Order: sequence, then structure tokens, then C-alpha cells
Amino acid sequence: AATAADRSVRAPLPVLGRDVTVPLVTGGEVAYAALDYAASAPALQRVWDDVAAYAPYYGSVHRGAGYLSQLSTDLFENARRTVAGFLDCRETDQVVFTRSTTDSLNLLARALPAGCRVFVFETEHHAALLPWRHAGVTCLDAPRTPGQAVETLERALAGREPHGPALVCVTGASNVTGELWPVRELAAAAHAHGARIVLDAAQLAPHHPVSVQDLDVDWVAFSGHKLYAPFGSGVLAGRADWLRAAEPYLAGGGASRRVARRADGGVDVEWHESAARHEAGSPNVIGAHAVASACRALTEAGFDTLVAREQHLIRKVRDGLAEVPEVRVLSLFGDDAPRVGVLSFVVEGWNSSHFAAALSAEYGIGVRDGLFCAHPLVRTLLGSDPRTRGECGAPGAAPGETSLDAVRVSFGAGTPDEHVERFVRAVR
Ligand code: PMP
Repeated sequence: AATAADRSVRAPLPVLGRDVTVPLVTGGEVAYAALDYAASAPALQRVWDDVAAYAPYYGSVHRGAGYLSQLSTDLFENARRTVAGFLDCRETDQVVFTRSTTDSLNLLARALPAGCRVFVFETEHHAALLPWRHAGVTCLDAPRTPGQAVETLERALAGREPHGPALVCVTGASNVTGELWPVRELAAAAHAHGARIVLDAAQLAPHHPVSVQDLDVDWVAFSGHKLYAPFGSGVLAGRADWLRAAEPYLAGGGASRRVARRADGGVDVEWHESAARHEAGSPNVIGAHAVASACRALTEAGFDTLVAREQHLIRKVRDGLAEVPEVRVLSLFGDDAPRVGVLSFVVEGWNSSHFAAALSAEYGIGVRDGLFCAHPLVRTLLGSDPRTRGECGAPGAAPGETSLDAVRVSFGAGTPDEHVERFVRAVR
């Protein structure tokens, strides 16, 4: 019998959308099982409540002397402090509100110092692989163990010519395999070779505590919509110096401290040195407030509890899939590698998009199929060259042929046991 402690570990956090029912091709209806958290997680009820509580009092940020404008400004700046606390930032770090992880990494790409070379593993999500191309990228081979990742990085950094500024961009948890990367060790390697490191925490932050100081990373990026706060905000947090020295990401009001018309008809501008430098225009105060609300909710629930519950769900999925001989779970670091609640697999004799469509139509389960915006990684994992059908998709295979892409199931703090149990039954 489950003890009270077991039950509390296993209680999912209340999220929206659990009351959605969908029709089945076999007849009748079923409660929708969202098992695509890695794409976008449902909003926490708590986040929704906090947004609803603020929405009637919405006002412009940093723009007015009126009461509601000041309230919004306080909310926005408090959200910044909450996020800094959630990420355990250094006193001198800046927290910039962006639209998403993609936006955050593109912002940092614009702030690279002259001559900076960027090092990324080929295993990265396209959002972490592509923004640096203008600067010069060294794309590293997919490692087969966490130790090999560190060795590969050290070798690449030690051999770089000339020995100028360098940035390493690495994921904390893969959006394809869910595997955890050795971030602390990679950060130590980067720093030992005079490089800086940015952590793509899009898949890590919703599942594990992320401490900038403990991991000793220079920047962290994550997305609100994967952290149960789908209101259009993301975060870039970390060292202020490169951000302060860079041209603003967007030019406009809010980023500028002083603007004047020159005698020759030109325009002079003095930019802010704070995070506002990269937040031109009226910021998304609701989005920032929602992210902060999610940070508070996850912290209060406790990551120990959330991790224990998620590991319990991962075991259920792993054990269930292991009983189906046609299923191959994808992994870089080996079957027992620690991971978050993200698993991709191929099913012998099945086209992944047909498989995902069947899970939806026959069982009311929403998963993802394709190449997950990580073409080189999926290519390495499948040992084949997927012909791309689009940015994030693949052509799939004819019925009866194994796909050149994969199915991904992902879950988190709002997932009840019943959803993963239904998924396992459906796959069987
Ligand atoms: N990095 C990783 C590891 C991701 O999983 C994603 C989203 N799939 C991104 C970056 C990009 O996030 P967003 O689409 O929110 O910008």
C-alpha cells in the first residue's frame, strides 16, 4: 500500500487542460493525455491564477507615473528578481526577458565580442546550433559518453587558433533523448581554456534545479512555455559584461537613456547598461510575471519531490517500452544514462507519423514525431540520413517500413500516472 509520503511524491501539480476530452476513431471520448511537454508544457493552475489576478490591473512598464503603471513596473522588476533567485544567479548577473530560448540565444549571438569562436556539439537543438553561424562555429562530434563530451570539448578548445575569445553552447538535457549532459564538467573545461559557456536549459529547467553558481555557467537560457508559463516570455540570465558592451538586440524606446538630434541631422543615442538595453519596446509584463509565478510554484513544490515523481513515471515508460521488442529507445549515453521525462523511440515496421497519429486517434494521446529540430542528432542516433520534409519534420516511411525519424513522449510535473499507463498500453 502506498504510504502518505509516496502519495504526496506522486501527486501531479495541477495544470490546465486536464478537462479536455477528445473523440476517438473507435467511438466515444477520452480525456486528452498531453505527453508532449518537451514541445510545450501545460500552464500550471497557479500560473493561470496569478496571471488572472494581475490582468485587470495591467499597465505599461517603466512608462508612467500612474498607479497601474507603477504596479506593472514593480511586477516586472520583481519577476526579474524571482528569476535571478530561481537560477541562483551571481549578484552582478543580468536577467533579460526575451520571447523564448531561441530569442535568448540569438540575443547572446549578437553580443559576442569580435573574433569570438563558438563551440557546439552537433547534438544541439537548432536553436543552439544555428544562431552563431555569422561568428564562426566549430561543430563537435556527438560524444558517446559524458566523459567523451568533456574530452572532445577540451581538445577542441586547446587546439583553437588563434587563442581569442570563445563561447561554448551546450544543452542541459536533450530535447530528443532527455539525457542529462555533464554541464558542470563542461563549464570547468571551458573556463580552464579561457572560454565562456551558455547553458541551453530549455529542457533542464522544467525538471531540475539550475544553479548558475553551482554549475558555474556564464549564461542560462530557457523558455516560459516549457516551464508551465505559456505567455510568450523567455529568459537569458548571466554575465553583464558582454551584454553591456553589445549593441542593443532591438533598437527602440526603453533601451535608450538619452537620444538627441545632431546638428548634422543624424541621431545620437546613449543606451542603457542594464537589462533594459536588450528589452526595447513595451515588454511582455504578463509573460514575465507568469515565468516568475512558475519559478515560485516549482520551488515551493520542491525539485526533490518533482524529480522523484518524474523518475517514477520514467520507470513506468521504460519498463513498458522494454516489453515491446519492436521498440528501440534512442540514447547517446546508454540505456541507463540519467534523463528527464523525455524519450524518443522508433518502432520497427512503423512510420513514426502514422504511429503518433494512431496514438492520438485511438487513445487520445498527444506525442511528437519527426526530427525534433535536431537533425544532426537524430541522424547520429538512427545511424542514417533522414531526408528532411521540413524544418522539424522528416519524410517518414511507407506503411510497413521503419521510419527515418522517431516518436517522442515527454511529461512532467502535471502528468498523472494514468497518462503514461495509457501510453504504454497503447504502444503494446
Ligand atoms: N533548446 C532546446 C533543448 C529545446 O528543446 C527547444 C524547444 N524545443 C529550444 C531550445 C527552443 O525553444 P523555443 O522554441 O521556446 O525558443
